[in-house]
Amino acid sequence: MKIGFIGLGNMGAPMAANLVAAGHEVAGYDMVAQPAEITNVASAAEAAQGAEVVITMLPNGAILQSVAAEIHAAMNVGALHLDCSTVDVESARNVAQAAEDAGLLAVDAPVSGGIGGASAGTLTFMAGGSEAGFAKANPLFDIMGQKAVHCGPSGNGQAAKICNNMILGVTMIATCEAFALADKLGLDRQAMFDVVSTSSGYSWSMNAYCPAPGIGPKSPADNDYTPGFAAELMLKDLNLSQMAATAVDADTPLGHAATDLYKTFVEDEDGLGRDFSAMLPRLAKRGRST
Ligand code: NAD
Repeated sequence: MKIGFIGLGNMGAPMAANLVAAGHEVAGYDMVAQPAEITNVASAAEAAQGAEVVITMLPNGAILQSVAAEIHAAMNVGALHLDCSTVDVESARNVAQAAEDAGLLAVDAPVSGGIGGASAGTLTFMAGGSEAGFAKANPLFDIMGQKAVHCGPSGNGQAAKICNNMILGVTMIATCEAFALADKLGLDRQAMFDVVSTSSGYSWSMNAYCPAPGIGPKSPADNDYTPGFAAELMLKDLNLSQMAATAVDADTPLGHAATDLYKTFVEDEDGLGRDFSAMLPRLAKRGRST
């Protein structure tokens, strides 16, 4: 298949490389990066010309909307715009509408799995869009990932992503709070893990990504909290969850509190560039704040 790929950063470059390795013809464009594994062209429009599918993997909704305007004008009628960026639901729906108006298919399919998953081709895709769009994207999901869930119409992929990551932000903070409390109660961290990981407090944050160094499976905590999933990316996703919640008048008190806490951690403290599980040392060194 002839594929255009716009946005060849930490995630986009390995995803595009996996498509090339699977035998697809990929024309890539990025304002900065020029990965060696891909044929790099001079503009987004050039990458889009004649492509059956154009994939975007960009930082935010404003950039996505401006790139979309450029590529939609260059794409053939019936081609698919597959956006894998994490952006706000409204931008995703605007881009899908613009694609439809131009006679194109559109799917929003943000990913879970991080840079490791992008390299290994084991991402999870959460997709929003028509059946026809999803069907066209599916063989590419199989190459770049291990699972794709069709979540409904356009924007629903982004909705699923921010709901998932709101749960993740909240449960990571809760897990870190519990470890910090356990420390002060004289409860050994290993004992705490052994109990909680097999009791009703278990979660992905505890069982698969334990924030306490030396406990549970290997995680960024064992590597001095080098990301992994950086605290500022968690803040991005929590901010998107709160934008969406405001837009539809949904009450998300814990999502709101988690957003505030990660904002303080990233913007006023030492959270920038650290894994989001570094919330544990942050809480453990503090006294009671509320
Ligand atoms: P990144 O900053 O490494 O890559 C983004 C790339 O887009 C950059 O190379 C940049 O030069 C390029 N770019 C920006 N504006 C452009 C334009 N107008 N035209 C062409 N290229 C342009 O970011 P990333 O980590 O690859 O993340 C990409 C998306 O994936 C984001 O939406 C992010 O939230 C999401 N995501 C990231 C992770 C992760 O662990 N890094 C995990 C899941 C989802």
